[in-house]
Amino acid sequence: MQSRWNEKQAKALGDDPLALRVYTSRLMGNDPFLVMHGGGNTSVKVTDTDFFGDPVDILYVKGSGWDLATIEPQGFAPVRLDVLKRLATFETLADSDMVRVQKSAMLDPSAPGPSVEAILHGILPFRFVDHTHADAVVALSNTPDGEARIRELYGDSVLIVPYIMPGFVLARYIYEMTRDLTADDWKRVDGMVLMSHGVFTFHDDGRKSYERMIEMVDAAEKRLQAGGAWSAPRIADDKAPSFDPATLAAIRKQVGELRGFPVHARLDDSAEARGFVDRSDAADIATRGPLTPDHVIRTKRVPVILDGSSPALDAYAESYQSYFDDHNDGTLSRLDPAPRWGLWKDGREAYGTLAFGRSIKETQIISDIVGHTRRAIQWAEHLGGWTALPARDIFEVEYWELEQLKLKKAGSVPALQGKVAWVTGAASGIGKAVTEMLLERGAAVVGLDLDPAIESLGDSNPAALGLVCDVTQSQALEDALARTVKRFGGLDILVSNAGIFPAGATIEDLDDEAWDRSMEINLTSHRRALKTTIPVLRHGFDPSVVIVGSKNVPAPGPGAAAYSAAKAGLTQLARVAALELGTDGIRVNVLHPNGVFDTALWTDEVLAARAEKYGVTVEQYKTNNVLGTEVSSKDVAKAVCALADRDFAATTGAQIPVDGGNDRVI
Ligand SMILES: [Zn+2]
Repeated sequence: MQSRWNEKQAKALGDDPLALRVYTSRLMGNDPFLVMHGGGNTSVKVTDTDFFGDPVDILYVKGSGWDLATIEPQGFAPVRLDVLKRLATFETLADSDMVRVQKSAMLDPSAPGPSVEAILHGILPFRFVDHTHADAVVALSNTPDGEARIRELYGDSVLIVPYIMPGFVLARYIYEMTRDLTADDWKRVDGMVLMSHGVFTFHDDGRKSYERMIEMVDAAEKRLQAGGAWSAPRIADDKAPSFDPATLAAIRKQVGELRGFPVHARLDDSAEARGFVDRSDAADIATRGPLTPDHVIRTKRVPVILDGSSPALDAYAESYQSYFDDHNDGTLSRLDPAPRWGLWKDGREAYGTLAFGRSIKETQIISDIVGHTRRAIQWAEHLGGWTALPARDIFEVEYWELEQLKLKKAGSVPALQGKVAWVTGAASGIGKAVTEMLLERGAAVVGLDLDPAIESLGDSNPAALGLVCDVTQSQALEDALARTVKRFGGLDILVSNAGIFPAGATIEDLDDEAWDRSMEINLTSHRRALKTTIPVLRHGFDPSVVIVGSKNVPAPGPGAAAYSAAKAGLTQLARVAALELGTDGIRVNVLHPNGVFDTALWTDEVLAARAEKYGVTVEQYKTNNVLGTEVSSKDVAKAVCALADRDFAATTGAQIPVDGGNDRVI
């Protein structure tokens, strides 16, 4: 591990200690071997002036809900230092009192709540305090003779603290442990290792505090390298085996049912993930406990082991219930019994590790933590055995109100959160509008299109995935489905929209090729999309298929035989699908849009020519419907989202116009 300190960047900060605090916090936050997703915390002590202009000693400590990687000055909670120091002198302190007193001691009551480690930061007699759960140090401590290893590595320059639950009890323990240390004694202390938890470093100089952290972690990493542990994680060398998308979709469904809402599942089939799952002792070493207790609120204590059977999830839920019953003091209510990650294999085939999250962000966080945990477990195994904390200690943190608060962010959950949608023909027009609106409403969306531009769909949004796909090719659809399920775990919404509008021709003039092409794309490709996705949709959450038809079905026009006949066939296909899939709970409905002029098809020239043909203005032409309204691709997208959501939970086999009202149909 190397210092990321950049003299030029640091100089530009001037001499504002909070700016320096933000800077080195971010340096740590951006190294996942040090800090992951909201883990760790930092502080700086400054003398500020209060409202009355009087000087006051303040601890700026990381605020709850902030991530060191992206923290800003306003992410630090300003708490009066004397109050924190005084709290440490109490024999006991209830969490609720700690939170209340800390809050009332804040210079700015609108700042975020201070970290649960605020008191500990307050009593350490240095301006800068840095705390991480660095993989290498924690892994070394999570071995049978962990304390001896840590002592041997750092000598007497570090304080070693046995595992104590974070929060007041830990602060109090360290207060007692260090209260007799003189200033000279402290000068000889480089840092503090908290067994099975993490590392603290401190210094009056912000750079030195940061670099001590790097040095301590670097020493631990070098020790792992020297002992051969660093390269111990097993790497599978063969190609990832193909998996049955329906099996993974069924796993995801069951996890979501245990959790109480739709979840995503992400398969990590990297060589490292498969290597771990493929170990003969994988089920044993993976279920001893998390890397650091802080992870439990993200990952739960243990993963589920899936070896070709789904009853594993029932057994997981039962064993979670026993774990709860064993440790509940009678006052707690059980959290959901769903696993957050799993090892997935089937006989001799190791597929990889799975992460289950309510949102894309949660899934990513879990997936990252799992990657680091897998590695740390194997390091420790190489050193004689991975020893995690007893279940009781993990339970205490999992059910600690202050930890659970970290997960509770303000704001409501988007309507389609956790859902996964497919949109064919997603690069332009209606498909594009549908894709954007589904994403807005919280769904993960896989957009399929022939246009290579679709590949940029996921560039700035991890909830989106753009795949070039020829929907007339069954194999291409199957490949796209496998990629969808690997990334998101299943499929709940199919928006079958891909289509072409052939040039107008009377039946007499229509050539066979134009007819066949319209049938292939406007009809047969939809059948292929259904056939490919049904086995996975069957395991979807409230699965819904929306077929984009056309007003040409109920109201055909001359010169559009190839288009109208294909769309009429498509509508009939959807009706049969509704009949066949109803028992699986899959709803199938058809939208018949008309006059959607805000798509690439309708250039200004085409519009002008059409209007002229009918002897009206462009405006009149666009609003030529019963409501006299202009229909946009967004109107179609809204109708798709409504059909995909619970609003139409009791509707299947319906044909709904989105056309402003057509007097030929009404
Ligand atoms: Zn910690």
